[in-house]
Amino acid sequence: MTEVDKSVYDKLIEYQDILMDKFKLEELMDGLPKVIASKNEILSRLKKAYLSKHKQYKKLEENLLTYDKKFGELKLEQADLEEKRKVTKTQKEFEVIDKSIRDKKEREEELHTQMEQDREVINDLRSAINDYEIDMKRQEEDIAREQERINAELAKVKKSMEELEAKEREVVEVIDEDFRAKFEKIVRNKEGRGIVALTCGYCTGCHLVLPQEFINKVRSNDKIYFCPNCSRTLYFKEDDVAGGENIFSAFGNADDDDDFFNAED
Ligand SMILES: [Zn+2]
Repeated sequence: MTEVDKSVYDKLIEYQDILMDKFKLEELMDGLPKVIASKNEILSRLKKAYLSKHKQYKKLEENLLTYDKKFGELKLEQADLEEKRKVTKTQKEFEVIDKSIRDKKEREEELHTQMEQDREVINDLRSAINDYEIDMKRQEEDIAREQERINAELAKVKKSMEELEAKEREVVEVIDEDFRAKFEKIVRNKEGRGIVALTCGYCTGCHLVLPQEFINKVRSNDKIYFCPNCSRTLYFKEDDVAGGENIFSAFGNADDDDDFFNAED
């Protein structure tokens, strides 16, 4: 019967710590760009709103330029009609021309009102556009700053990762490759506790009390065993009653249990 070198368990515990640090760094690396992504999203929304306002503004501004031409035309038409009115021969003709002149004046007033309204809207748009420009600039500066911070952070994380990977290479030398993959999965799934002690008759990972036969097997150390309940890697640790390190030690003695169950015999 081959025996597992007990130092493997120490290596696994060391490996577990390295893995946990690696997972934390991976999480950091994944999370960092997300901050920028949400800031970029805000910026793109600002740009979209800005462009829409800008388009509206340009259109109204072009519109404003056409007013002068329209006023000029109306003035000419009015002057023309006034000349005609001077030389009318009948009352009826006079009234028709007079009505046309009044219509032209009314149209001129309408145009004036419209122009004033357009000007007001243009002023509002201009101020909104100005605000958007300030907001966009701020957001861009914020993103640039954030990017710089993230780059520095990522460089640090990358360096830590390289250091960890160097340590990892050293530690995993004595760990079988297939087992390594399995162990990494357990550590990831069990929040960093992939290897736990079997002591006082129970798995310290899930606190399940294990059968004596199984405990003996783990103790024999002929191969690496896993908890049948939580799948964590187990290593045998002598019961530490005197140390009083854990709360279960007081009633973890198998002999006491036997007495209890045999009491009625
Ligand atoms: Zn367990």
